[in-house]
Amino acid sequence: MSDPGPRTMPVPAAVLDILRRLEDAGYETWCVGGAVRDALLGNPQQDVDLATAATPAAVRKLFKRTIPVGIEHGTVGVLDDAGTLHEVTTFRRDVSTDGRHAVVEFGVSLDDDLARRDFTINAIAYHPLTHAWRDPFDGRGDLARRLVRAVGLPRDRFREDRLRILRALRFAARFDFTIDGATLAAAQDEAAASTHLSAERVRDEWVKGLATAKSRDHLAMLWQESGVATAWLPELHVRHRDSDSRTNATPGVESLDDVVLVTARYCAPLEPALRRLKCSNADIARAEALDRGPRRPPSADAVDVRRWMAGVGRAASDLAQHAAWSGEDQDGWIGVMDDVRSRGDATSRGELAVSGTDLLDAGVGAGPALGATLARLLDAVLDDPALNTRETLLALARRGS
Ligand code: ATP
Ligand code: MG
Repeated sequence: MSDPGPRTMPVPAAVLDILRRLEDAGYETWCVGGAVRDALLGNPQQDVDLATAATPAAVRKLFKRTIPVGIEHGTVGVLDDAGTLHEVTTFRRDVSTDGRHAVVEFGVSLDDDLARRDFTINAIAYHPLTHAWRDPFDGRGDLARRLVRAVGLPRDRFREDRLRILRALRFAARFDFTIDGATLAAAQDEAAASTHLSAERVRDEWVKGLATAKSRDHLAMLWQESGVATAWLPELHVRHRDSDSRTNATPGVESLDDVVLVTARYCAPLEPALRRLKCSNADIARAEALDRGPRRPPSADAVDVRRWMAGVGRAASDLAQHAAWSGEDQDGWIGVMDDVRSRGDATSRGELAVSGTDLLDAGVGAGPALGATLARLLDAVLDDPALNTRETLLALARRGS
């Protein structure tokens, strides 16, 4: 075994209390999963999952406040005094699977439990009382080698659960690890069958992957390289741009988790991609507007920018954000758009100084001509915002009717 890593791992007191209680009752219990991996990588996280020899029923009997969060998989939530939930899962072995859901068996050992985990780096156990480590697949060695490697035979493991293919891509992008050769080859062979996954699970993996990746381009490249994109996002194109080398530093922090804008960086057309991922109707509508464009005004001239804003309506912000990320703002048109907005220049009928009712009250533009009159007034105001006063617009309307 290579680099043994640190000898101990910090475990929150509340988790330690739960573990000690289980051990005192005679049930072997270990810290497992992502928290162990992350601690070894130097990123301690709050929720430490426990794996135990106790059955779910025994766990529920031992603690005052429990919640059956995933009882069929053996997971019981134990609430500590502060009301924080900690997951305690009975050692389990998968007996059979349909490609996503497994039938599980309890009454097995820690090593059996580690053997059914997806990747070696996720199959390390730590005992905080004895400070013992259990690492039967050399997960610590793979952490040192920066490698995502399946536990056992990769092909079998991916056939048992296709979601593991997507998880491999997510972990590789998150830690900037390489996917082990045999694991990647098996992922490529099995990627086509990932169409059997539910769209919701795939979307969750895509969004979580984008949100946690060190480099989103890397994640997109892995989706392409593995063949998962062929199955789920054939619209995906990876641009190898120097500007987004190995960072996730995208302007606009609040947009970080915006599935529409982030996916728009990689998928064109966007609308069929989001529809396939079963995104919300609101997101699909935004995608349609992004696809429709026009992507930008013909020039950075304020009149052009206002006319473009009037044409694309509410999609203007999405289009501008997308253009900024794509470096399509050399002439500074986005700054001009911001100026138009801060001055309050009208770019829609609703922002005109007169309403349809005003026109009717003034006796102009009645009947089917009303819409045409409003369009003509907006057209004039787009050319010259100074015209947007009640008197001027009423005069203009009278003149034209
Ligand atoms: P994250 O930080 O994203 O939560 P994690 O490793 O904790 O990463 P979880 O999805 O929370 O991932 O799962 C906890 C653990 O359960 C994993 O570390 C892994 O050991 C195991 N696991 C989760 N999903 C699978 C799966 N599909 N197949 C096999 N083992 C899995
Ligand atoms: Mg986790």
